[in-house]
Amino acid sequence: MAKVLITGAAGFLGSHLCDRFIKEGHEVIGMDNLLTGSMSNIEHLFPLKQFEFHFHDITKFVHIPGRLDYILHFASPASPIDYLKMPIQTLKVGALGTHNLLGLAKAHAARILVASTSEVYGDPLVHPQPEEYWGNVNPVGPRGVYDEAKRFLEAITMAYRNFHEVDTRIVRIFNTYGPRMRLNDGRVLPTFMRQAIQGEDLTAFGDGSQTRSFCYVDDLVDGIYRLLLSDYTLPMNIGNPSEISIKEFGEEILALTGANQKIVYQPLPQDDPKQRCPDITKARQLLGWEPKVSRKEGLARTYAFFKEVLKP
Ligand code: UDP
Repeated sequence: MAKVLITGAAGFLGSHLCDRFIKEGHEVIGMDNLLTGSMSNIEHLFPLKQFEFHFHDITKFVHIPGRLDYILHFASPASPIDYLKMPIQTLKVGALGTHNLLGLAKAHAARILVASTSEVYGDPLVHPQPEEYWGNVNPVGPRGVYDEAKRFLEAITMAYRNFHEVDTRIVRIFNTYGPRMRLNDGRVLPTFMRQAIQGEDLTAFGDGSQTRSFCYVDDLVDGIYRLLLSDYTLPMNIGNPSEISIKEFGEEILALTGANQKIVYQPLPQDDPKQRCPDITKARQLLGWEPKVSRKEGLARTYAFFKEVLKP
């Protein structure tokens, strides 16, 4: 049984990771400052002996007494609206927070897995995106605070590996969805779900032809779990390569919910990537992993969650 620290534990991905590690029999310390996370995502874990919660901002020195085997660093604002509202916190958690956790990993000789993102590819000129692609990022645009923080996170993680021999893993996460996504984080899926349920038109940005590839959260968590336990130390894409335009995605959600509304078009935000799809050859070959949950199944489970959340 390992002792695991998960930062961003009260967030969407962090809370699902807590669930998985507890299910595997490990002891979990969840850490969060609740900037974008929510206690409701982890309150079911509080009665468990295996779980403890530390309310802490990881941009300040992080101390964990006793043994620590694994660190999963998932703390960060993670939607375009969030990092527009919190640009400095986004940069600090990616830079100072990652630095603190790498220091903690070094002190405990713990293995650390850090959450990077497909945003390191920016508005990609190579499609689908393999890990070797260096990306097309605007450092001074609105997304720059997130993209560059995550690029720094990768760089400092490799530096700690090469210079201090810290045992590191880097996952590049593509668009992920599922229960516990925040309703008002501006992301396309919670927005479309809310609009469909509340009788509003669905707001597609631009002409809706931009693409994303959506991975169901359980698949993502499984890929991360396998990556942590693997020997692979360079960045690895984890995502679902089933690509869809935002317009078609809206149509799927209208069909699923039986809503009668239409899709309306609004201006495309600056630097919005035109296409995004992971090349998951490495995850397939080295982890024996690939997504199992179809969009139909995943969207149905997510719809059940949002219907409950939005119940009058
Ligand atoms: N989007 C949209 N309508 C919305 C919210 C988002 O059309 O109400 C688009 C957005 O412009 C982007 C895509 O959906 O092209 C995915 O946006 P999201 O914020 O979910 O994540 P991103 O992949 O851009 O980080």
